[in-house]
Amino acid sequence: MMPAVALGTWLGNSSTGRIAPVGYETEQAVLWALEAGYRHVDTAWSYHVEDQVGRPVKTVVDAYNLLHEITTTPKLWNDAHARSAVVPALRASLAQLQLSYVDLYLMHWPLGQFENGSYDSTHYLETWRGMMDAQALNLTRSIGVSNFNKVMLESIRAHQLTKPAVLQIEWNINLQQPGLLAYCRQHNISVMGYTPFGALMDKRRADSPTRIDDPQLTKMAAKYGKNVQQILLRYAVEMGVIPIPKSITSTRIFENIEIFDFQLDESEKWTLRNFDRGYRTIPQLKWSDHPFYPFEKMPEYTTTTTTAAASTSTVNTEKSTQQVISEVDVNDKSARMNFRDIKI
Ligand code: NDP
Repeated sequence: MMPAVALGTWLGNSSTGRIAPVGYETEQAVLWALEAGYRHVDTAWSYHVEDQVGRPVKTVVDAYNLLHEITTTPKLWNDAHARSAVVPALRASLAQLQLSYVDLYLMHWPLGQFENGSYDSTHYLETWRGMMDAQALNLTRSIGVSNFNKVMLESIRAHQLTKPAVLQIEWNINLQQPGLLAYCRQHNISVMGYTPFGALMDKRRADSPTRIDDPQLTKMAAKYGKNVQQILLRYAVEMGVIPIPKSITSTRIFENIEIFDFQLDESEKWTLRNFDRGYRTIPQLKWSDHPFYPFEKMPEYTTTTTTAAASTSTVNTEKSTQQVISEVDVNDKSARMNFRDIKI
C-alpha cells in the first residue's frame, strides 16, 4: 500500500524556469502539501533539498503523531553506484531527512557516474545488491528503481534478486508506455509517474506534441469543473500510475490533489490514450553513450499531428499506444519513414 499521489521536489522544472534551492521554497511547499493532504514526498540526493523536505515532515509528524502516515522517498544518485557506496549514501540522505529509515528508497538511474561526471560502468545489478544491503539493515522497508527499462527489470528477475517494489518513470499523456505498465502489473511492481504534465506547459518546448490548451483537454476539464492539470493527474491514477506533480505554488499544490471527486469515463480514457506519442520530455541525451543508458536513442521524429522535429526528444524503447495501433516497429530502421507518416 502506498499513497496514490506524491509531491515532487525537483526544482529544475519551475514555471519561472530552473531555480536553485535557496533554503525555504521546498520547505514551504512540503508544508502546504501536508496541509492539503499529501502523504508522500518524492525527493533525491541530487535535488539538494532533502534537508528542506526533512524539516517540515519532522515538524508535522511530531506535532500530529503521524509517524506511520507520512512517507518520504529519496533516490540514490549516480555517483554512489559501487555496492559498498549505497548504504553510506542512504545514511547521508537519512541524516538530511532527519529519519532513521524510509519506507522506500529508489535507484535514481541504472547508470553510474563518478563525481567528475566521467562514466562509472558498475553494473546496475551490483548497485541493486547494495540496495538490498540497505534493506537488510532496515534502513529502508522497500527498494525500487527509476528509469529502468523492461530488459533491466528482467535482468533483476533473471538473477533472482529482490524484486523492485516500485518503478519510477516519466509518465504523462505523451509518454504512456503501455507495455512497461503491463509488465509492472504482471509482476506486481507499483509505478510512480514523474513529470506528469510532460512538456504541455513549457513554452520553450516548441516540439511538444500536445499543449495544455488542447481543445479536447479543455473540453474534458470544463465538463468536470476541473483544470486540465487535474484531468492529467486523474488519468494517471485511473491508469494505475502514482503521479508525482511538483509545484512550489500553494494554489497548485492544493489543486493537484483535488482529483478524487470525479471519474473519467471509458471514451474519455480512450481519447487520452490517443495522445500517446512515445515522446520523452527528459531523455537525458547527454548520457546516451553510457552502456546502461535506458532509453532508445532516436533524436528526430514527427507524427501526423505534429510536424516539428524533436531534436531533444527520444522515442521510448517500447511502442507507444499509437505505434501499437498502427503496427509500426520503431526499432526497424526501414520502418522509420513509415513511422513519420502514421495515419491514425
Ligand atoms: P511536473 O510535470 O510535475 O511539472 C512541474 C511544473 O508544473 C512546474 O513548472 C510547476 O510550477 C508546474 N505546475 C504544477 N502544478 C501546476 C498546476 N496545477 N497548474 C499549472 N502549473 C503547474 O514536472 P517535474 O519534472 O518536476 O516532475 C515531477 C517530479 O517527479 C519532480 O519534481 C521529481 O520529484 C520527480 N522526477 C523524477 C525524475 C527521475 O529521474 N526519477 C526525473 C524528473 C522528475 P511551479 O512549481 O512553479 O508552481
